[in-house]
Amino acid sequence: MKKVILIQYGELTTKKQNRNLFIQTLQNNINNSLKEENIKIITNRVRMFIEPNNEDRIPNIIEKLKNIFGIHRIVIAYKSDNNIESLKENILTIVKTIPFKTFKVETKRSNKNFPISSMEFSREIGGLILKNIPNISVDVHQPDYTVKIEIREEFSYIYGEIYEGAGGYPVGVAGKGILMLSGGIDSPVAGYMAMKRGIKIECLYFESPPHTSELAKKKVKDLVKELSKYQPNIKLHVINFTNIQENIYKNINPDYMITIMRRMMYRIGEEMIKKTNSYILINGESVGQVASQTLPSMCAINQVTNVPVIRPVACLDKLEIIEIAKKIGTYEISILPYEDCCTIFLPKHPVIHPVLEKCLEYEAKIDYNKMIKEAVETVETIKIDKSEEKKKYQF
Ligand code: ATP
Ligand code: MG
Repeated sequence: MKKVILIQYGELTTKKQNRNLFIQTLQNNINNSLKEENIKIITNRVRMFIEPNNEDRIPNIIEKLKNIFGIHRIVIAYKSDNNIESLKENILTIVKTIPFKTFKVETKRSNKNFPISSMEFSREIGGLILKNIPNISVDVHQPDYTVKIEIREEFSYIYGEIYEGAGGYPVGVAGKGILMLSGGIDSPVAGYMAMKRGIKIECLYFESPPHTSELAKKKVKDLVKELSKYQPNIKLHVINFTNIQENIYKNINPDYMITIMRRMMYRIGEEMIKKTNSYILINGESVGQVASQTLPSMCAINQVTNVPVIRPVACLDKLEIIEIAKKIGTYEISILPYEDCCTIFLPKHPVIHPVLEKCLEYEAKIDYNKMIKEAVETVETIKIDKSEEKKKYQF
């Protein structure tokens, strides 16, 4: 029997007008992720079939498909001919490979020449399974396994193993956003959550050499590599933030240093949005986590831009964020000890209730427009893909 992989779409089926765009984007994303595999994709409005040239590759293909957003379920379907006896035999062979305690049978018959009605065929198959497999029973309401049979004109599909998909929308359908990516735990999780809603991301990292090291930058690159499981070929924009940070350090009241620094980051974020044709900023801020993430701080910082800022982890507990970070594979990289540009100039008493007038007064002391322009003009852009080799850290 030939095996095909059947993809059941996720939430996208609810979006009627956009359905074609969703399906096309999903198909492109699957093609990109499975570039090295030799596959053929056939789509229709309710699902997609992937036919691998080499069935031995199916486990690898399934592993990759599990990371692609927009997929609700992945089913291995077997193609059988429509001869009643061999169809029954094939169904039994497949069902025997699947562990379950309760089951039901569902038959869909688009081939009206098939001599047995759907109901009757389901009943016959149910009886056959009960007779041949011990210690199982029928449960029509909540079965462990639904034996699905589709009888078509030329062949039938029998559904076998089922895997949960990643859910969400295909990456790209929502447009593009800039993810402010530090080396910490929160921002990669924020990026993952944004991608899950269909946002294609480009990453923005602020470095301050020589105060921050090459290792800190490499850590961010490795985070991007990990995120590229969900979106192949992510761009990482590296902004040299040294001049701005040193100017802040020299000229600004220490309590306001972080507030002003983050205002500068947002300003640069907005410039990068224009440069990359993106719509929004995404970051890993979480309410109350640090002084710059109190509500008054968020207000004072956000005031520099009208661009929407999406904060996917804003209302999650740190433990919840950590749980996601572990699940998506970024946690182990994030906890490596390399310094971030926020931590090196950390004041003793960062303000938790910054006042906008003070921000403006302090900022007037530095010629930040010029510095921002220069930082954006000299941005270094790196394309990062999962297939890139991971170099070891040297301790
Ligand atoms: P994270 O765990 O993501 O580093 P955090 O709790 O350390 O977050 P902050 O350092 O205050 O919090 O940063 C808040 C957010 O600002 C980060 O989640 C990230 O989106 C962004 N950010 C901070 N530092 C940088 C940086 N060097 N480059 C790019 N973005 C940054
Ligand atoms: Mg951080």
